[in-house]
Amino acid sequence: MNTIRTIGKRKRIALVAHDNKKKDLIEWAKHNAVILAKHELVATGTTGKLLEEELDRPVKKMLSGPLGGDQQIGAMIAEGMIDVLIFFWDPMEAQPHDSDVKALLRLGVAWNILLACDRATADFILTSPLMQEVYDTIVPDYENYLKRKVV
Ligand code: PGA
Repeated sequence: MNTIRTIGKRKRIALVAHDNKKKDLIEWAKHNAVILAKHELVATGTTGKLLEEELDRPVKKMLSGPLGGDQQIGAMIAEGMIDVLIFFWDPMEAQPHDSDVKALLRLGVAWNILLACDRATADFILTSPLMQEVYDTIVPDYENYLKRKVV
């Protein structure tokens, strides 16, 4: 049976951008600074440092993505500590940490969180009326998987 996780009005938003996409993410964040001010921000190290400087507000900074930051954010998603992931990954360049990128995207979907990988989707998420409301989200049920017969 699926369970429900109640997301408060103040959302926990994780932001990650690959180097070629950082300018895009910063621009987007500055454009939406007023809305973002109502929420908590978490980011991978370098993205977080830039956001803090440009938005002049605190951002919880994890390790740099390729050094474990993607995995830290993935773990937070699995623990129900992230409501929204804004992940501007670079479709034009292979990354040294491609396996971490895949893992982060996978966990976002596995745990049914809000997930935007481009600016248009990020705009739709941020301007949704649900961003200002309490929202009951479904936590997928992995009980059958956990109880599967393995021996
Ligand atoms: P960074 O990491 O913000 O520390 O550059 C981003 C990424 O995951 O590549």
